[in-house]
Amino acid sequence: MVSGKSLKDAVKKSADKLAKNAAKGAETMKKATVGKYSNSKNLKDHKHCRECGKMISPSTDGLLCKSQECIDKFEKNLKVKKQLRLWMIVLVIAILGGNLFQMGII
Ligand SMILES: [Zn+2]
Repeated sequence: MVSGKSLKDAVKKSADKLAKNAAKGAETMKKATVGKYSNSKNLKDHKHCRECGKMISPSTDGLLCKSQECIDKFEKNLKVKKQLRLWMIVLVIAILGGNLFQMGII
């Protein structure tokens, strides 16, 4: 009986310890999350250049820093994207047109 009681006590003690640790963990988690949130808030106050990722002022209208290199790169990318879109449209029209043509024949 005595040993059983002490075992119970031991279990209770370790349970208390676990609970305390869990509470501590929750607290640190809370702190960490709050820290993360405040960090993201700070991050919202600035933008990054689309090309080089440099920090730029949020009041800047464009998505780029003022470097000519980035502007050139961006324009090049834009041209490539435009061309790609054009090809996509041509492809879609070709496929659709081909299907319509086939349907017309059948
Ligand atoms: Zn840049």
